[in-house]
Amino acid sequence: MKKRYLLITIILLLVSVFATACTKSKTNRNGYDYLVLVNKYSQLPDDWEKNVKLVNAKNAWDEDIKVEKEAYEQYKKLAKDLKSEGITIELDSVYRSVKEQQKLWDEWSADPEKGLEYVKKYVAVPGYSEHHTGLAIDICLRKGKKLVYENDDMIADKKTFSKIHKKLADYGFILRYLKGRDNVTGYAYEPWHLRYVGDKKIAKEIMDKNITFEEYLGQEKDLVNNPEAAKYQIEKKLQKEFDKKIYKDEITNSRFNVKKIYTYKDAKDDSTIKSLKLGKHDIAFDVIYQIQPKEGANIIDLTIPDGEYDEELGWIKGIHRVGVLRQNPKNGSLKLENFGTGW
Ligand SMILES: [Zn+2]
Repeated sequence: MKKRYLLITIILLLVSVFATACTKSKTNRNGYDYLVLVNKYSQLPDDWEKNVKLVNAKNAWDEDIKVEKEAYEQYKKLAKDLKSEGITIELDSVYRSVKEQQKLWDEWSADPEKGLEYVKKYVAVPGYSEHHTGLAIDICLRKGKKLVYENDDMIADKKTFSKIHKKLADYGFILRYLKGRDNVTGYAYEPWHLRYVGDKKIAKEIMDKNITFEEYLGQEKDLVNNPEAAKYQIEKKLQKEFDKKIYKDEITNSRFNVKKIYTYKDAKDDSTIKSLKLGKHDIAFDVIYQIQPKEGANIIDLTIPDGEYDEELGWIKGIHRVGVLRQNPKNGSLKLENFGTGW
């Protein structure tokens, strides 16, 4: 009897060890997960910096830089492969520690000429830059004696970059910031920003489907359980609608700060939320807004219900309750309702 129990215990133990080994992702090795997501609303994991294995490299200007070990090995293979096709890539910006990012942030913020909004647009908040991972690589091009590294020049060189992008997945890299997908990634098109994901098959799937890393991870669709991501998307979308569409001719600037988020779960205690008939993927929100009318614009026309014109600042300020962000669960596309005209 006892022997039988021992045997059963051993079998159970083996099964559980085997199951653990199987469920552990292939990209989780060297003490960290190569599929880590760091973006404007997803912070670098706390223990990342002490675990990441970095190696020394040189950038295009012969300066010392650091790159994650495996990403660098694969990068060198990619560069060699491209060289055989007559394309020379070199490293630009790669690893940046949170401390370095903080320094950069402080330097920019200390400049009284630049407002916080301006700094936010050009410098990632410390802890929220993919360059902290060591897995993000900005490349530039060497053409004869000339180094092509300015953003506009690289974007213009479509032919070279399309050849480069075709090879990325073979070495476990993806193109991180796709054209026209800044509503998902938070960044405009950057043909030079490569991301090592640690698995060629996964890289190939992402590149073949032409999807963002967020979409591959299923992150962009889960706004209901991701309040920070939801806030980010709402603020960004509101600003776009206001500045580019609704008040395009009347305002110079708008700012939004989402204060509260509601989901279909909140409908039972709140009749206003209930009346919105939120779907499982929809979000309602209260938002503080500030809009700056253009000179000569009709302030009265612009003053939205509950908004007040602050003469000293020259801005209209107020809080709007409630706007709605509806999400199409099939393709993740987002639509705003209950804002703008007829507030
Ligand atoms: Zn970059």
